Amino acid sequence: MKFQDFSLDARIEAGIHDAGYATPTPIQEQGIPVVLQGRDMFGLAQTGTGKTAAFMLPILQRLTRGPLRQTRVLIIAPTRELAEQIHQTAVVLGRHTKIRSAAVYGGVGKGPQIAALQRGTEIIVACPGRLLDHIHAGDVDLSHIEVLVLDEADRMLDMGFLPDIRRILKHVPAQRQTMLFSATMPPDIRSLADSILTDPATVQVDVIAPAKTVSHALYPVPETLKGKLLHALLEQTATSRVLVFTRTKHRAKRLAQDLDKRGYRVAALQGNLSQNRRQEAMDGFRGGKYDIMVATDIAARGIDVSLISHVINYDMPDTVDAYTHRIGRTGRAEATGEAVTFAVQDDEPMVRDIERVLGKPIERRRLSGFDYGSFAPESQQPAPKKSVYRSRGFHSQARGGLPPAAPPLRRD
Ligand code: AMP
Repeated sequence: MKFQDFSLDARIEAGIHDAGYATPTPIQEQGIPVVLQGRDMFGLAQTGTGKTAAFMLPILQRLTRGPLRQTRVLIIAPTRELAEQIHQTAVVLGRHTKIRSAAVYGGVGKGPQIAALQRGTEIIVACPGRLLDHIHAGDVDLSHIEVLVLDEADRMLDMGFLPDIRRILKHVPAQRQTMLFSATMPPDIRSLADSILTDPATVQVDVIAPAKTVSHALYPVPETLKGKLLHALLEQTATSRVLVFTRTKHRAKRLAQDLDKRGYRVAALQGNLSQNRRQEAMDGFRGGKYDIMVATDIAARGIDVSLISHVINYDMPDTVDAYTHRIGRTGRAEATGEAVTFAVQDDEPMVRDIERVLGKPIERRRLSGFDYGSFAPESQQPAPKKSVYRSRGFHSQARGGLPPAAPPLRRD
């Protein structure tokens, strides 16, 4: 299939060309015709599938007709990074049209946002909290909204945004086209979909399971050796850009400082940074100033760096969803990537859950030449009976294997 098959406006086709997209991804193939017909859509797709263009291209097509400078499309996203990324997609794909997009999120001054809203914009891409501020201040008129998109809805619910979303919905006409995107479908997403979508077409791409272009590897390691193992791994592996996840902001900061001392070009992305510092870190990573980004789950939400070759879970994610979202940062579109996870003994249940979703065991690896000390990971000796790791070669405490994890840490 080709983009020309959608019969989009020539100015939008020029935008697709500028973006460098050659052929539609599966979600675009399936989703674009549905949205062009004006139907509601439930997109079960994770980041990295090309879902943003899947809704943005038909939205731009709709906006080429009808009044300009009236806000007709509202896109809601959980984080400012994702909102900014969606806004940039609108700017790039809509560059040859007169259509405008404004990004609305917290952590930055309201002035420029109010100015953009007053100048008139067809698209608003917003995070819920700041949008409500503008609604209450009377800065924004949502009474002409024709299309509403809720992106990464599962994450929005995880972050407690449901009441805000319901409040926003009261200001949006009931008669509209609605699209809801989610990487997973827990019951609360199903009931949200039921309440806001009308006869939706469900478009499903790689449900729940991480992108197929990503290979997964597990490195059993005691907590105390994680830092050394990361360093050794980076030394031995050919990487382009590496995204490292830690469990807390504090650990992200400390690990980045440690890597910096070792001479790596590294930035930390965590919730305590000002918006300017975050932007500097993101731009530096995207532009090649930094090779390594150390981030927490929330801070890294929506990072779009097509050149990420490795995602390293320095700490095991809390949920399978979080794993999927982290891994979605590599292997984007057609690129291949590698997902590396450091696992301590206490991570055993989460490993099992992730493997259930992947539908296969994750390959266990040990780094050759690395001094594991008294700890002997998988390929050195078999693990004892009864351990669920046995068949896969994981090592257990009983055999002088994995020490317990560090004491519980404060979450972000
Ligand atoms: P998304 O899932 O929307 O976050 O998109 C993931 C990445 O794929 C982004 O870097 C997009 O620019 C890129 N992308 C989207 N559609 C295409 C396409 N048809 N061909 C190549 N890359 C694409």
